[in-house]
Amino acid sequence: MKVSRDISNKQFDSKVRGQMSGEIGEFAKNFNYMIDTINFTIRDITDKNTQLKSIMQSVSHGILAIDTRGKILLINDLAKKMVEGDSYVTAEGKNIRQFIKNELILESVLHNMCSEHSTIIQKNIKNDIIYKIKIDPVHFEDTDAVIGFIINIENITEYAKLENMRKEFVANVSHELKTPITSIQGFIETLKMTDNLDTKNRFLTIIENEATRLTRLIDDILLLSTIENKTKKKVEKVDLFEVFEEVHEVINYIAKKKNIKVKYDFENKDIDLWEYSGYIRQILLNIISNAIKYTGENGKVSIKQYIKSEKVFIEVKDNGIGIPEEDIERIFERFYRVDKARSRDIGGTGLGLAITKHMVKSLGGNITVESILGIGSDFIVTIPVDIK
Ligand code: ADP
Repeated sequence: MKVSRDISNKQFDSKVRGQMSGEIGEFAKNFNYMIDTINFTIRDITDKNTQLKSIMQSVSHGILAIDTRGKILLINDLAKKMVEGDSYVTAEGKNIRQFIKNELILESVLHNMCSEHSTIIQKNIKNDIIYKIKIDPVHFEDTDAVIGFIINIENITEYAKLENMRKEFVANVSHELKTPITSIQGFIETLKMTDNLDTKNRFLTIIENEATRLTRLIDDILLLSTIENKTKKKVEKVDLFEVFEEVHEVINYIAKKKNIKVKYDFENKDIDLWEYSGYIRQILLNIISNAIKYTGENGKVSIKQYIKSEKVFIEVKDNGIGIPEEDIERIFERFYRVDKARSRDIGGTGLGLAITKHMVKSLGGNITVESILGIGSDFIVTIPVDIK
C-alpha cells in the first residue's frame, strides 16, 4: 500500500520489499520492474532536457519555441534579452503577448504565426541594430498540421554594415573607373575625326593623363586589398628617420614646384620601428604629399617628430586650404573627397587617407586630424615604439 502511495506521490525510489510467493510475488516483481523502467525513463528524459537546455543556451542566436496560441515552450537567455522580456520571471508557460516587450519583434512574430512556411524578416530594431527574425512552423509528424513555431533571432548588425560597405565600395570603384574610361573612349572617337596635329596632340595628352589616373586608381585599390590581407607580409625593422629622409627627398621636389617650404624637426633620429614592408614610407608619403597638394603656392609645411607615452608622434602641419568641420570625420573613408573636382585635378584618388589609416591601425597606431577651413590642417600619426 505504502509503495503505491509513494508512486502516486512521484517518489519513484520506493520498492515492494519482502519475500512473496505465488501471484502476489509475481505482481511484486512486475511492480518493482515497472518502477525501475519509470526511473530509467525519467532519468533519460531529464538528461535529454538538460542537453537541450545547454544546447539552447550555447547557440549564438536567440531561440524561442511557441505553440500555435503563442505560449512559450522553450526560450534561451539570449532570446529573453533580445525580446526585452523580464529576466526575473519564468518565460516558459507565458504567452508571447505578455512576455515580449519589444513591439517590433512581437508584431513580426504575431503577423507570421498563421503561415505554414518559413518566414524571414529583417528589422531595424533601434539605434541601427538590425535583427534577422526567422519563423519556422513546426509540423505534426509528416502532416500539414502546424503545432507550433520556432523563432530564431540573429543580430546581423555587423554583417549588414559590412555588406553595405562592400556594396558602396563596388559602386564607388565602378564609378571611379568608369569616368576615365568614358573620357578616354570619347577622346579616341574625336581623335579619329580630326586631322589637325595640334588638336591630336592635345587629345593624346588628355588620354595619357586619364590612363595615368586609371593606373593610380587601380594601384591604390590593389594596395588597399593587400593591406587587408596583411598576413602575407613580412614584419621588418626600419629606421624611422632614414625612411623619412627618403620621403623628404621625393616630396621636396614637388614642394619646390609650388615654392612650398618643408621644414622638419626630428627629436629622435635613432628610432627603429617594426612594420609591414613599406608601410611607414607610404604613411609619411601620403600625409606629407597631401599637405603639399592642399596648400597653395608659397605655403608652409612643417613636420615634427617626438616621443610621448611610449609612442612616436609624427605631426604634419600645413597652412593650406583646410577642411570644413562637417567633412573632417569622413576624410578617412574610401573615395571621400571634400572637393571631388579639385582632388581629381591634382591627381587624387580619394583612397590615400583610407590606405594611411588602415596601415597606421595595423601597426597598432592611430591617426587624427585638426583643421580649420582656410587656415590649415594638422595630421597627427602615433605609433607604439615597441611594436613587433
Ligand atoms: P585624395 O587622393 O583626394 O587626396 P585622400 O584620401 O588622401 O584622397 O584625402 C581625402 C580628402 O581629404 C582629400 O580629397 C581632401 O579633400 C582632404 N585632405 C586630405 N589632406 C588634406 C590637407 N592636408 N588639407 C586639406 N584637405 C586635405
